[in-house]
Amino acid sequence: MTGQGHRFTGLGAAFFAAAICRFAGLGEFSEIASALVAGSATTMPDWLEIPFYRNGARAGSLIPHRTITHWPYLWLAVIAWGVQDGSLMGGLAIGAAVGSLAHILGDAPNPMGIPWLVPHRRVRLGKKGLWRSGQHEVLMTLGFAALGYGAWWFSGGPAFYGLTN
Ligand SMILES: [Zn+2]
Repeated sequence: MTGQGHRFTGLGAAFFAAAICRFAGLGEFSEIASALVAGSATTMPDWLEIPFYRNGARAGSLIPHRTITHWPYLWLAVIAWGVQDGSLMGGLAIGAAVGSLAHILGDAPNPMGIPWLVPHRRVRLGKKGLWRSGQHEVLMTLGFAALGYGAWWFSGGPAFYGLTN
């Protein structure tokens, strides 16, 4: 997925983070804060690798590309911690983790794949990945946003803020 595609998954990530906070009973303020963090964290797994650039192009990174920062279980554990914590801090952690998971899901269908099992070994889906980076992005981001909205609606939707009766 391209950088722009990743940024657009922020919408779905925000809804998913809000839904998780709602189910975990984190409260309105934490929920909104979590959604805002999730919406802006969808490029996090790439910049956490501390990339360095040569002539404007990514030349490498301190943490090898698509390893530990692209390992889904790390972020699932962060979500579990956030739910357990239940405070604003937990909400922010959930937001960062959901945004990162949205990024990983966007990367997963590419030929390079993501580390599904162990953090240092990437697994590609199918023989050469499902599709290349940049393909099906509109469908992926819209579908993800719709799923996120559905999860949030299922968790109670806007009624939680007293916006509807
Ligand atoms: Zn990535």
